[in-house]
Amino acid sequence: MIMKTRKPSEELKLYRSLNMRMDLSDEEVKYCWSLEKGFEGEQQFDAWLMNLPDSENWVILNDVLLEYNNTTFQIDTLLLADESLYFFEVKNYEGDFFIDEKGRWYTLTKKEIKNPLLQLERSKSLLRQLLQSLGIHVHVEPYVIFINHNFHLYLAPINPSIIFPTQLKRFSKKLPVKPSNKKSLQIAQKLMSIHLEKSPYTRVPDYTYDQLKKGILCNSCHSCDLQFIGHHILECTRCSCREDARAAIIRSVEEFILLFPNKKVTTNAIFEWCEVITSKKVIRKVLSERYTCIGYGKSSYYVES
Ligand SMILES: [Zn+2]
Repeated sequence: MIMKTRKPSEELKLYRSLNMRMDLSDEEVKYCWSLEKGFEGEQQFDAWLMNLPDSENWVILNDVLLEYNNTTFQIDTLLLADESLYFFEVKNYEGDFFIDEKGRWYTLTKKEIKNPLLQLERSKSLLRQLLQSLGIHVHVEPYVIFINHNFHLYLAPINPSIIFPTQLKRFSKKLPVKPSNKKSLQIAQKLMSIHLEKSPYTRVPDYTYDQLKKGILCNSCHSCDLQFIGHHILECTRCSCREDARAAIIRSVEEFILLFPNKKVTTNAIFEWCEVITSKKVIRKVLSERYTCIGYGKSSYYVES
């Protein structure tokens, strides 16, 4: 049972949007790409996990953001079953990597990357302390999963917490066969109740409203190349993906709120932001159906219900 589904993080959504609407620096584009790739890897792991015969028996929480002692930590996947809590850090690294004599991780081009084992150790320690403070006693099993089949680590340490792509099949036999019980469910509910919604991210590029290209982004390829083809349908000229205009407008309003949390959502603002929608009436209708209108006439604006 999936108790918490995975969605693209706000940070990824923000970068996706800015990457299409303005010129990001090479560094920012690389960072955006790494977020995208990380998300892709997590989705691949989800698909792998859900295809296992016992997956129905487990309680699964994805993307859980927790805090202990003023330190936040994120866990990609939590699996509860049979008196145990498994947690997974998923890495979608691709290419050749090596570890030096001091235990530091590098790409073959000598670019140092964060040591995933240290990250795992940190999360494990914080999670254990958090569980203890909540009076929860459960066996914790941490793993870092390398999901990409094109990943290779030279001089790989022998560490049972690391699962390489070629070991995934055998690793699946280690996962619990006994179903989750009442205790698993209670632990999952407790963790859900203290999950933090807002992730603190700091690496946001500078941008202004005027600087950004307007228009609705394609839901599939995220390009700005949508056109109206009638009957309330938008089509992407780049990937041919079609979408109902109402859904596309709502998505764009959410993006507008994410990018400009201090700007008011008005019919005029969204009309200008969506660009491709030629009727203010359509915008007003979607806004009034989906959001709550505050005030009257020209000064009215919409807030989330
Ligand atoms: Zn497209």
